[in-house]
Amino acid sequence: MRKHTPLVVGNWKMNPNTAASAQSLCKETIQSIGKKITGVDVGLCVPFVYLESISKIAKKSLIVLGAQDIAIAKEGAHTGEVSGAMLKGLGVQQVIVGHSERRAGGESDEQVTQKVQSALSQGLTTIVCVGERARDPQGNYFGEVEAQLRSILMPLQKKFLARLVIAYEPVWAIGSGRIPTAAEVQEMKLFIQKVIASYAERESIRKVRILYGGSVNSANAKELLHEGEVDGFLVGGASLKPKEFSSIVSICSKK
Ligand code: PEP
Repeated sequence: MRKHTPLVVGNWKMNPNTAASAQSLCKETIQSIGKKITGVDVGLCVPFVYLESISKIAKKSLIVLGAQDIAIAKEGAHTGEVSGAMLKGLGVQQVIVGHSERRAGGESDEQVTQKVQSALSQGLTTIVCVGERARDPQGNYFGEVEAQLRSILMPLQKKFLARLVIAYEPVWAIGSGRIPTAAEVQEMKLFIQKVIASYAERESIRKVRILYGGSVNSANAKELLHEGEVDGFLVGGASLKPKEFSSIVSICSKK
């Protein structure tokens, strides 16, 4: 039986190109999801520059506003960075941390861990991305995911567990149209729970939602949700298509 309300989070990445199209995209997404949907939490993580205008549109809907990154520091001489307090001031409630596209740009496990601390201490729901770059027949990719998880979990205070969301995003599946089987997703979910349980009491794994991300669409979401037994999805490309995104939300909702 599912223990969590499913969570579907759209990651717009560096899209769209103008504020006007961002506002239209948000409005169309809200319209497409409709008002009657229940039993699912929905978030949109949008570029920093659109947060203020999207916040005004999203606050009349069920959509929770999110950012795609957060500064480690609270304030000060950090050119180009955006702090947790600034995000909160704009109505942001959740943030993606450690996306593979940022890790590929040089973000280390240590920096990801510091960002997780920064976001959690601001009271933000913190969606941490973990995932292997490639799969090998020997199963070494479990070690890669475990190292990412252990780095995050080591300094984590148990009181923050309920605001932690783990997004399992195999890097090879992101934007590629390739996905693991539902059985492989379920296997990784259980593995992630085992690692979490080794840091906190077994009960605590119930507090952490585990999402899947990587080429999710309306055609594969149902099987990944039910057979993969995840608590929802982090959606990239499909979140830019309101009908596609709302279909994924609907699959995760209480019918
Ligand atoms: C992502 O960027 O987090 C992602 C899952 O992308 P996509 O859905 O496009 O694979």
